[in-house]
Amino acid sequence: MPTLRRDDLPTRGEGGPDAERPGRVGIRTCVACRQEAGKKTLVRVVRDAEGRATIDATGRAPGRGAYLHRDAACVEIARKKRALDRALKASVSAEFWAELSL
Ligand SMILES: [Zn+2]
Repeated sequence: MPTLRRDDLPTRGEGGPDAERPGRVGIRTCVACRQEAGKKTLVRVVRDAEGRATIDATGRAPGRGAYLHRDAACVEIARKKRALDRALKASVSAEFWAELSL
């Protein structure tokens, strides 16, 4: 069992070969501000069987999904522009927005 030296570790992070490639794993676009962000900073919203927008807390629910910053500014933009309604082709209820604003 050879010991792993520091020099043998693969370099990660800045300037890596994957840094600028589209379709990067875990990167999504916020439907409100259109900025890319990691999945962890965005909330996933999916359309449920009844055609309503619902928060996907697990990030794994099947079906059409959209991502939004869990941020008062982005929530407000999405609500005004009806960005989620359009992205999901779903009806977004007042209850949903209330839940998202918590
Ligand atoms: Zn945003």
